Amino acid sequence: NVLADQIAAGEVIERPASIVKELVENSLDANSKRIDIIVENSGLDSIRVIDDGSGIADDDVEIAFKRHATSKITTRRDLFKVRTMGFRGEALPSIASVADVTLTTATPGSTTGSLIHIHGGELVDVKPGPARQGTDVVVRELFFNTPARLKYLKSPQTELARITDIVNRLALANPQVAFSLTHNNKELFRTAGNDNLQQVVAAIYGIQVGKKMLPFAGEDNDFKISGLVSLPELTRASRQYITITINHRYIRNFELTKAIINGYESKLMVGRYPIAVLNIQLDPVLVDVNVHPAKREVRLSKEPQLAELIAKVIRQRISTENL
Ligand code: ADP
Ligand code: MG
Repeated sequence: NVLADQIAAGEVIERPASIVKELVENSLDANSKRIDIIVENSGLDSIRVIDDGSGIADDDVEIAFKRHATSKITTRRDLFKVRTMGFRGEALPSIASVADVTLTTATPGSTTGSLIHIHGGELVDVKPGPARQGTDVVVRELFFNTPARLKYLKSPQTELARITDIVNRLALANPQVAFSLTHNNKELFRTAGNDNLQQVVAAIYGIQVGKKMLPFAGEDNDFKISGLVSLPELTRASRQYITITINHRYIRNFELTKAIINGYESKLMVGRYPIAVLNIQLDPVLVDVNVHPAKREVRLSKEPQLAELIAKVIRQRISTENL
């Protein structure tokens, strides 16, 4: 049902950056070790995501574009312990309903792959494709059939900044994956995928970890936290440089952001914020990601306890460094 898909797309697919996010999250769910993102004209001309993940079996390729056809949760109980990025089965059909999509994919060890082409929600072609392991999705003609959505987009620079921001966050959340982002044939950044967060921070922010960025780690009975925080002298004029992830998922959370800042006590100047990456590991039952389709907002049990742990660990780290 193309109309239902377009309506769902309204919630999940607002702009080129949302497509990048959904495609990369699918690549992460497929256990990819390498994800290359290639964008033309801020995503308006094309968005391509190539991964080396588990691929989609021939029989499932068409199904992947059907609404609520997710391979990731099977029971209601699964909803309460989501371990994957995706679980609604909405992204692919939503994207395909408002664009031209070609997906080629092959599973490990298969001698042929599949190619599927969908235009504005209508199946154009599905046939055997190259046997390269992984998935390659190309999205063109974004919002060609929803002109109102096109008009709502901001300038190309703004749309590109949003794409860069989301890819940065996904790379910071997944230092075990080698990412690259290329725009109009220019490589914007590349990470090594060697599970070294310091390398990712250097690739993204150009900051060599050592003197100015400190690694930290701590835990209590429920939470394990680790990451990097800048010294109070290395700050920025916005909170944009604070990244929080839960179980490799980039999230936004006001209380936890405040906890990081609280860890600095009064050492930050007014209007200045640290550069920080905070990775949180917890049992998925403690977090509800099913609040909004874009899944950036999460509901957390024991949030005050977690905030206290974060502030304490960062406070200790900053103060021992200033001795
Ligand atoms: P969801 O991620 O919520 O399951 P999507 O619409 O994003 O829904 O994707 C539908 C299905 O297509 C996924 O459940 C998965 O089985 C398959 N899929 C999509 N992208 C990839 C990929 N890059 N690699 C492997 N499988 C994929
Ligand atoms: Mg998905």
